[in-house]
Amino acid sequence: MSQAPLYTETLQRFENQAIVTVAAGATCAYLGDERSLREFLVADETARHLRAAGHTVFSLLIDDSLDPLNARQLRVAVNKDEKLQEQFQGWCGKPIGRLPDPWGCHASYAAHFEAKLLDRLHDFGCHPTLISTADLYRRGVYAPYVREVLERHDEVTGFLAQRFPGYTPDRLFWVICPCCGYMDATRMERVACWGVQAYCGRCEKSHGIAFGDLEGKLNWKLDCALRWTLFKIDAEPFSKAYLEPKAGTFAVARALSERFFGGAYVQPLPYGLVKMERHLSGRVLESLPAPALRNLFTEHPATDLHLTADLVMTTASRHEVSAGTSYLDAVKQLLPVWLLTPDALTKGQRDLVAHGTAFSRHFLDSEPALRLPAREHIAGEVPVVLEGLRCLLRQIITLRQTTGSCWESYQAPAKRLLDDVAPHKKAVLHCFRSITGQQQGLPVTRALFLLPLTYLQLVEHLLDLHLSVAVHNTVHPKSSYEPETLPLPLAA
Ligand SMILES: [Zn+2]
Ligand SMILES: [Zn+2]
Repeated sequence: MSQAPLYTETLQRFENQAIVTVAAGATCAYLGDERSLREFLVADETARHLRAAGHTVFSLLIDDSLDPLNARQLRVAVNKDEKLQEQFQGWCGKPIGRLPDPWGCHASYAAHFEAKLLDRLHDFGCHPTLISTADLYRRGVYAPYVREVLERHDEVTGFLAQRFPGYTPDRLFWVICPCCGYMDATRMERVACWGVQAYCGRCEKSHGIAFGDLEGKLNWKLDCALRWTLFKIDAEPFSKAYLEPKAGTFAVARALSERFFGGAYVQPLPYGLVKMERHLSGRVLESLPAPALRNLFTEHPATDLHLTADLVMTTASRHEVSAGTSYLDAVKQLLPVWLLTPDALTKGQRDLVAHGTAFSRHFLDSEPALRLPAREHIAGEVPVVLEGLRCLLRQIITLRQTTGSCWESYQAPAKRLLDDVAPHKKAVLHCFRSITGQQQGLPVTRALFLLPLTYLQLVEHLLDLHLSVAVHNTVHPKSSYEPETLPLPLAA
């Protein structure tokens, strides 16, 4: 498969640069749905290509944790829980990195969602280094730059007005009120040689704040330009809206960087938007294995994606979980068998079971389960077919006990045993499928190999019971599957 132009161009761009830093930004005010993942996955896929070409790559995830929480973010964060929204609404307007964790498990509100996001990214094989900007501001990393921007306030706004007539920043710096801790209603009134005079609409007071005590964060475009310099960032994903040349974030940040922060050159990694029907939110993430979703988002990074149920089905049928087996087939055929032996599964199989169960529920409208055999499943069947199945099961159980878990040793003799079931083969196999509830499942030879021996023994035992009762109650003609002639006599 040919490589998307984005990766080819990036590899060419950094061909002679041994160390490359790829960064992606986030505001960890809530954990978004699958749409929000594309940016991180495109950054990581770029890093993967660079690493494969022999570069040393630093992957950064920068959380704007000094951003103020807003009501919309809170609503998503607490899963629309009205009680929690009411309880925490007083937090809106304060920086997320300074709020407590509503669930009490992390150092701050931001740290909670940073951990959740990192956990999710780890599932996709992304392991970026987290940079929480609230920590950087707290440690004074931004302080000299903040002071410079404030001292050159008029020069910066004049430069922006001249270069980007369509863009007038609301504020160059968001002051955190030293009195109430909110930052959404503060406005700088004056920059003096000792500090700033700022008015807080929440306190309805004006505060004089010395530079040494000044807290707050730079306008996002300034922050973006500055972080390129601070972390020597080489490449960063931007959606097309951010790359709009007239007043898009990238163009403005690049101009600011060139004029005020030493002009770091950053390669934008354009990625297309992900649109999705509302009812699919969260379900795609739950239902597709991480490599399938990763591939869907990164194969053609610049193309807009419309995630529909049809696209999810196509992706499931194209994604191979092992040689020759698509994810869709695995969900339909292997999952019911795996569910019987959860303890024996590998980590990869457990992941597939988790995703496959959700996929079945959301996209196939069924619960993947292998039912336990019960009397009612065999009640209407004619004895000759039941005896045929009992005989086959005994021989298969013996075969599996001798061949262990080796498919190669099992396959040919098992196929012969199945052929020998004639003349009732079709009815016997149908009976087996209806007992297990797997009319559409695996080929029977394979199912008989994968099902736990205890399960097969249970079916056999049930057949024994049923047939012995039938023998006592009725005198039926002897079939060619006379139990006494079988190689493995029944123990009980
Ligand atoms: Zn927490
Ligand atoms: Zn205040």
